[in-house]
Amino acid sequence: MLKVVDCPAVKWDQKRLETEIRTFQPHFAFWNTATPTFKSDLRLGAIVKAASPNALTGVMGTHVSALPEEALGHPCVDMVIQREPEGTIREICEENLRAWKDIPGIAYRDSRSHGFCQNPAREFLQPEVIPAPAWRHMDTDVYRLPLKGSKFLIVAPIRGCPFPCSFCTGPLYYGRKLRKRPVVNVVDEIRHNMKQYQVKNFFIWADTFTADRAYVKSFSREIIENRLSIRWTCNSRVDTIDREILTIMKEAGLWMISFGLESGNDNVLKETGKGISVSDSRKAIWLAHSLGLKTSGHFVLGLPGETEKSMEETLSLALELPLDTAQFYAASPFPGTRLYEQATKSGWLQGGACLFSQDQAVLNLPGLAAEKVDHFRRFAYRKFYGRPKAFWNVVSMARPAALGAILKNLKQFSLWTNLRV
Ligand code: SF4
Repeated sequence: MLKVVDCPAVKWDQKRLETEIRTFQPHFAFWNTATPTFKSDLRLGAIVKAASPNALTGVMGTHVSALPEEALGHPCVDMVIQREPEGTIREICEENLRAWKDIPGIAYRDSRSHGFCQNPAREFLQPEVIPAPAWRHMDTDVYRLPLKGSKFLIVAPIRGCPFPCSFCTGPLYYGRKLRKRPVVNVVDEIRHNMKQYQVKNFFIWADTFTADRAYVKSFSREIIENRLSIRWTCNSRVDTIDREILTIMKEAGLWMISFGLESGNDNVLKETGKGISVSDSRKAIWLAHSLGLKTSGHFVLGLPGETEKSMEETLSLALELPLDTAQFYAASPFPGTRLYEQATKSGWLQGGACLFSQDQAVLNLPGLAAEKVDHFRRFAYRKFYGRPKAFWNVVSMARPAALGAILKNLKQFSLWTNLRV
């Protein structure tokens, strides 16, 4: 028997989780972890072991994939699933408590010496056998679009990303090779979700969905030819789209597209290895906007090479472009990335920080302290969303029932950014 729970989404607190585990008495418990929540994620191990003492525990995620020894320092974590987890977890469960220590793709503590053991890496799944999420085990009703409130589900047609961006954990988890699931499988999954869960909104999730034009065209055609009336959003790269591809994507139901624009300064962009320019960003956003698509821009402040002037250039770019929404993150040297190596070698990590999120700067670059980056992030948000046009963009995307929540958030936002409202 299997149970899958998304605790934050269904609002299970620790007590509820403990009660459920005590009743269920699992043989294995696996859960996801992330850099910002790493410590509390690992504390879950103690909860599981207290409620179900015979359960074997395993953690997964990019942080523990890069630093498995750190996770195994916690006595209530028995194993780390490194990188893509599905094949490894399936095999562990099939072995059913017997030979799990021989399975590729895991790290664990040796039971006698308590030393660190790491098995060979597991091959990534072939695209034909990448499974669709087992939504039947979950409450899908809780997944709602922000502002709009309509139900949505994630469909992931592609795994892997071939680009070498210094700050990104994507390729670490799913590899550098694009693994494209057969379009017909993906469209069948969408059709099934529409029928089974009454969902019409989808987030077509891939690190860069538009990395392969032929695939995106074929996906869009299949949606159009099968007359699937859906609305969807996706992530993209500014140098992988043009009028033709966006037009067919829109015809297939695309209404919003997100781009990692990262910076408004070409030298900072060059340092990241992303391989895009400010001019690419301008062209892509104006093009998507001219075709009637909503656009979302993601910027990172405090990357290597950043200065106060380059942060101002990033903000100017965000204000100049017809973006509907914008996010300004703090550069985060997630373990396993080139940025992590750079930051640790150069001693940039503030106070040796190891747990951080993109909501708080931790890199003290030469000539640019983390505090300045944080201060500028707040300033950038205030400038961007303090414009009536930007505020209206957000309100116009919301259903009437969400207006109360927007006003409540506006109050918190104004306190955080010092915005006068
Ligand atoms: S930032 Fe985007 S393009 Fe770059 S490696 Fe990550 S997913 Fe790929």
